[in-house]
Amino acid sequence: MSIANEDLRNCPARITLDAAQLAFFNELPTEAPSVQSELGCELELGHEGSHAALGHQVETTTWWIQWTLSASEINPYTWCPARSTPQTDSRDDQDCALFDGHPGRHLTSRPAWQERAA
Ligand SMILES: [Zn+2]
Ligand SMILES: [Zn+2]
Repeated sequence: MSIANEDLRNCPARITLDAAQLAFFNELPTEAPSVQSELGCELELGHEGSHAALGHQVETTTWWIQWTLSASEINPYTWCPARSTPQTDSRDDQDCALFDGHPGRHLTSRPAWQERAA
């Protein structure tokens, strides 16, 4: 199954983390140099439920900021199991970059040549 470029639109929602949320991420045991204070939703355009953006990854745990119009929270998840496809040679199309149980379709990573062509 191929995905056309026009089908790759993400949800446009964005969130600015507050001081407490930034402090939470800064205290995680990670080698990431800094936390972005503004993050964009990584789910499919028109998805159901809360918006979600990946804040940090610590080993196999991914920390996602999930928010609605009225509230936001940080929750730990594992990667979407669609990422685990050891039987395939097609690593570009099969790995989902979202959390386990996310709404909407899987977010597959694009080949590097597509990203450079933007
Ligand atoms: Zn969203
Ligand atoms: Zn998925």
